Amino acid sequence: MATSVSGASSTIQCDTSAYEEAVETVELDWDNLGFTLVPTDYMYIMKCSEDGIFSEGELRRYGPIELSPASGVLNYGQGLFEGLKAYRKEDGSILLFRPQENALRMRMGAERMCMASPSVEQFVEAVKLTVLANKRWVPPTGKGSLYLRPLLMGSGALLGVSPSPEYTFLIYASPVGNYFKEGSAPINLVVENDYPRAAPGGTGGVKAIGNYAPVMKAQKKAKENGYSDVLYLDSTHKKYLEEVSACNIFVVKDKIISTPEIKGTILPGITRRSVIDIARAQGYQVEERAVSVEELLDADEVFCTGTAVVVSPVGSITYLGRRVEYESKGVGAVSREVYSALTRLQMGLAEDKMGWTMQIN
Ligand SMILES: *Cc1c(COP(=O)(O)O)cnc(C)c1O
Repeated sequence: MATSVSGASSTIQCDTSAYEEAVETVELDWDNLGFTLVPTDYMYIMKCSEDGIFSEGELRRYGPIELSPASGVLNYGQGLFEGLKAYRKEDGSILLFRPQENALRMRMGAERMCMASPSVEQFVEAVKLTVLANKRWVPPTGKGSLYLRPLLMGSGALLGVSPSPEYTFLIYASPVGNYFKEGSAPINLVVENDYPRAAPGGTGGVKAIGNYAPVMKAQKKAKENGYSDVLYLDSTHKKYLEEVSACNIFVVKDKIISTPEIKGTILPGITRRSVIDIARAQGYQVEERAVSVEELLDADEVFCTGTAVVVSPVGSITYLGRRVEYESKGVGAVSREVYSALTRLQMGLAEDKMGWTMQIN
């Protein structure tokens, strides 16, 4: 059986012959979801060869994939990932949050990495199909969400350093709860002074898979020392804030919210953008600019944003051995406010005046 799904301006063909929706309910402890992989029923997979056109995507049982040992992704790191969430509304329907933004970001990343990429419509339709095929894994309202992980990889075989002759787009899904083991409690960050995450002209601004393994060393050291994660500084001056391993950073001082501007070395977070717009709509002044580590230490409140972490308050920052606690100044009033506004919108509990949510069933 072949099913076609109509997108805004295109139609994608999807072979769903391997897909038979499981009806049994999932036995999972919904109250204690963390951010660990829970295998689900189906993954979506779609390939393109030298013409650069993706076609004939299909839903397959979730499981291992076959890859040439000479593939571009395995040898030269030609790969990108994305992350977005599906939320269950109280009436049982399912919402996606700004999936077109993830599609556009993957296309920007693909351009930087010389990869072919699916169209925005193909990406969004593939996400929808993946969610619907794994519907029973979408947690009840308020218990978490179904995290979708789209991948784009150079899957064609080659020997010399050059773009792969074939690309594979894949999406898998896992139900998730809180990202940090602290849950929704404030996290403790350490400023990293030795291992910068990205350099001007590099790939820090795209979700290239190669950006992540190099920072595991700093992250591992931080976790061994009791910190939740690492905050990176700019590689040139070691003075301005960049971001955390997988989320963006905001500082609040005298009710003014500031966050590092997008200039190629930090990831342009969709949550970051959304929080800026929500805070402005709530009457806050928000500045996108260079934010120094001194300002961070002097802030009233600090929080992180990302799809995985949502809005996470920061309880302390340690910089060159000096620890600054923020809780004493009042637990994150601004972060609580934007967290509430953002998550109510994502879960369909508040009216979506921004037009950011997409109902898929
Ligand atoms: C994915 C990611 C973010 C957050 O982006 P969102 O679109 O908000 O999920 C921030 N920083 C890094 C390094 C990331 O990989």
